[in-house]
Amino acid sequence: MALIWHETTAGRIAETLKARWIQGDPDVRFQGIATDSRQTCQGRLFWALKGERFDAHDFLEQAVAKGASGLLVQSGRTLPPLTREEIVVLAVEDPIRSLGNLAAWWRHQVPIKVVAVTGSAGKTTTKEMIATILNLGEKTLWNEGNLNNLIGLPLTLFRLETEHHCAVLEMGMNRKGEIAALTEIADPDVGVITNVGPVHTEGLGGLAGVAAAKVEMIERIRSTASVVVNGDNQPLMEAVAGCNRPVVTFGFTPGNTVHAERIEARGHEGFAFDLAYGGRTYPMTVSVPGLQNVWNALGAAAAALCLTIHPDQIAEGLRLFKGMHGRFEILFLGSNILLVDDTYNANPLALDTTLASLEGLAAGGRRIVIGLGDMLELGDAALHAHREAGRRVTETGAEWFLAAGRHASDMQAGAIEAGMPPDHIRVVADAAAMLETIVPLLRQGDLVFLKGSRRMGLDLVSRGLHETFGEGEQA
Ligand code: ADP
Repeated sequence: MALIWHETTAGRIAETLKARWIQGDPDVRFQGIATDSRQTCQGRLFWALKGERFDAHDFLEQAVAKGASGLLVQSGRTLPPLTREEIVVLAVEDPIRSLGNLAAWWRHQVPIKVVAVTGSAGKTTTKEMIATILNLGEKTLWNEGNLNNLIGLPLTLFRLETEHHCAVLEMGMNRKGEIAALTEIADPDVGVITNVGPVHTEGLGGLAGVAAAKVEMIERIRSTASVVVNGDNQPLMEAVAGCNRPVVTFGFTPGNTVHAERIEARGHEGFAFDLAYGGRTYPMTVSVPGLQNVWNALGAAAAALCLTIHPDQIAEGLRLFKGMHGRFEILFLGSNILLVDDTYNANPLALDTTLASLEGLAAGGRRIVIGLGDMLELGDAALHAHREAGRRVTETGAEWFLAAGRHASDMQAGAIEAGMPPDHIRVVADAAAMLETIVPLLRQGDLVFLKGSRRMGLDLVSRGLHETFGEGEQA
């Protein structure tokens, strides 16, 4: 177990949190934190959080039965009878806030460099790219998947050990103030904003609201930290202009501090490009296709350069990064079908960027077949965004278009408006219907692209195609 846990007493935790001491031995040391009584609790401090569906205060006895050495509860809550008086019990007003406060303290127990990544799309990929680069040089901690909120990010920081020299932390948000709070917890040395797009517009009141929420990172970050932003993303740059602080920009255009030159698409193998920085260029390859991944690579490179990482190490990290499940993942199926599984999630910015990459992958005469599911949480912008999605599908030259969800007919209308023959469009209810409809339409050599919001479950179509056509040879 990590040294920080060995060295930290319950008394120290209570003092850091200004928690009310209810019972137990202040010299107890925990083996970590547990938030779910179904998982390991032995020797841990069970942190009672209240979520939308569960309230962990209902599971305190269970946590103790499973060996928890302490409980952190919300003040005023009724406690179950505790037979063992050595069990530490602490009470705080707001357990989620306290989790962040302890994580903020924890972050400074080891002299690490922290890189934080936020943005509307590409956070996880950029975070993984940065982590791959940094981990080549020094032991690096990073969030698993997208444990990126006010619970996931602190829990990631509690995995910090004394051997770590760097941490790469993804920051997600659904509402105003969240990025500010996460920035305060992580106290980053480098903050990266990948882009701003119409995502979560429902809760944030349009694109300007999204941009304002993202630049909270810039407003809260320490003055000595570096800020890295996508200079090609106009809504982001407009919001950055209001922050009055120097930034490092990355992008395709030469005006950016770090930019790409001579981008060469290598089909499903990704890209080669020259990274231009400080008057010099460095050859790079990205082993994942999709133009969005060149932006992600540039953002990752810019963050690494801020930490004075050598360009050779950056090149090696970008070459080694092999992509992530469901994010523009290339799968070869039987009958020479090339499946691009982008079913992890969707929003208008991600869709627009990824559709632009299909043409390059279809080179050599592959027919394009596109299956899209609804993009959720867009509020008033939903109708327009789905029509626009349909238009963009037509622009790819797709042979077939399948649309699923409540907004399927809006996507259909947009596609027809842009000139797609109506008999090449199929409106279906859900993922299962899409799978059933798509199979008979497919021919040898097709390129299939699947994308939708996670809750649309289009990964079912991807798995179904895999089962139907079997694994194929790499073309
Ligand atoms: P996030 O963590 O922000 O959700 P991911 O890295 O998980 O982003 O990628 C999710 C999806 O977003 C990908 O499948 C792809 O469709 C799209 N995407 C990734 N990077 C970018 C980018 N830089 N610009 C636009 N879209 C992107």
